[in-house]
Amino acid sequence: MIHALVAGGGIGGLATALALATAGHRVTVLERQDAFTEIGAGIQIAPNGFHALDRLGVGHAVRERAVLVDELRLMDAVTGERLTAVPVTARYRRRFGNPYAVVHRSDLHTPLLDACRTDDRIRLLPGAGLVHHTQDPAHVTATTADGRTHTGDLLIGADGIRSTVRARLLDDGPPHPTGHTIYRTLVPIADVPRHLRSNAVTLWAGPGCHVIHYTVAAGTRLNLAAVLDDGATEAVSGQPAPRATVLARFPDLAPTPRALLELGRTWRRWVLCDRDPADTWTRGRVTLLGDAAHPMLQYAAQGACQALEDAVTLGALLTHAAPDDIPARLTRYDTTRRDRTARIQLFSRRMGTDLFHPAGPHARARNNRLRPLTEDALHHRLAWLHTPQPPPHP
Ligand SMILES: Cc1cc2nc3c(=O)[nH]c(=O)nc-3n(C[C@H](O)[C@H](O)[C@H](O)COP(=O)(O)OP(=O)(O)OC[C@H]3O[C@@H](n4cnc5c(N)ncnc54)[C@H](O)[C@@H]3O)c2cc1C
Repeated sequence: MIHALVAGGGIGGLATALALATAGHRVTVLERQDAFTEIGAGIQIAPNGFHALDRLGVGHAVRERAVLVDELRLMDAVTGERLTAVPVTARYRRRFGNPYAVVHRSDLHTPLLDACRTDDRIRLLPGAGLVHHTQDPAHVTATTADGRTHTGDLLIGADGIRSTVRARLLDDGPPHPTGHTIYRTLVPIADVPRHLRSNAVTLWAGPGCHVIHYTVAAGTRLNLAAVLDDGATEAVSGQPAPRATVLARFPDLAPTPRALLELGRTWRRWVLCDRDPADTWTRGRVTLLGDAAHPMLQYAAQGACQALEDAVTLGALLTHAAPDDIPARLTRYDTTRRDRTARIQLFSRRMGTDLFHPAGPHARARNNRLRPLTEDALHHRLAWLHTPQPPPHP
């Protein structure tokens, strides 16, 4: 049995703890916050994410809380025209083995947390922000902000886009602001007129902006976000934004997306940050996972799904591992995951420029490309992204 230290108790960190415990190991999760919670709003889960959740034993619990949507719609935010829609009902579910669903973040985090809490091999330590780590040929030692030290056989940095573990491991500076601002809110479903409700993920694509919405929390709230390509250069995270500012920043919307935006009462603002794919994110007994390893713009809705895939891969590769096997197994984890996650990082950026935000002739070219696509053709285009990944053999 090995003892793993995991920095970060978000979706990636908890999934990793479960995967390693299932592989027979002991895990200590060091979480900076005083409680294990997931803030924020909605999140989409594609079948590849559900497949990973199934392998972790919590797929059923997440599906129970999820809203299974019927289609992924792309609309023109200025003309109101429907550009395309990917049906994600029976045929899609058969093809990919799981539904496409939307959840409130806590509806994904809570089942992972509950499963960790009932596993004796997992120790959850809130209020334990990692500030430093060292490694020698046999061990890693993590120091937390309260001065305590924790020793294990390996350390996994699942501490998010501003990862402390990554800073020491790769020393590649902070993530860069992408120049995209996102405003987010949740609207009680009772406040949403019936004609504005649908069982879909709907994205209104406009010149340099988009609006996206879907229901979460068992259909009781509308998750609403509006993104503007405004060249913002300073990272901002969750700052309150006046309603009037949000409405003023999206002046040219068609009546329906405009009416949706007007439903928002309390908005918050983030400036999205990103990194280029890294060549490697492993050194000896220390590796990274999830956003710490490969943060991606949310446009492909895959960041959390990729963190779940990472966790399952790591668990599979560390099955029956002895302490001496760790550096080689971590290198294999890195090379197994690197190309897929890098491709999704770059694809997510392209979705912003080519699909969601183009203007004028570029937007017309997009519309012409999308118009002839049949259901099968649309599913085929998503297959590399949404197909469940088989775990590797150790
Ligand atoms: C607007 C938006 C929409 C998104 N939509 C989707 C979507 O639809 N589908 C999808 O799959 N993904 C989506 N994502 C991406 C997804 O949210 C992330 O990829 C996912 O949350 C990453 O999980 P993580 O555990 O790697 O990191 P995080 O969620 O950032 O968790 C990191 C954890 O580490 C803790 N921590 C930080 N520093 C330390 C430290 N030094 N020591 C100890 N603990 C520490 C933090 O408190 C936190 O609990 C979206 C992202 C955004 C911004």
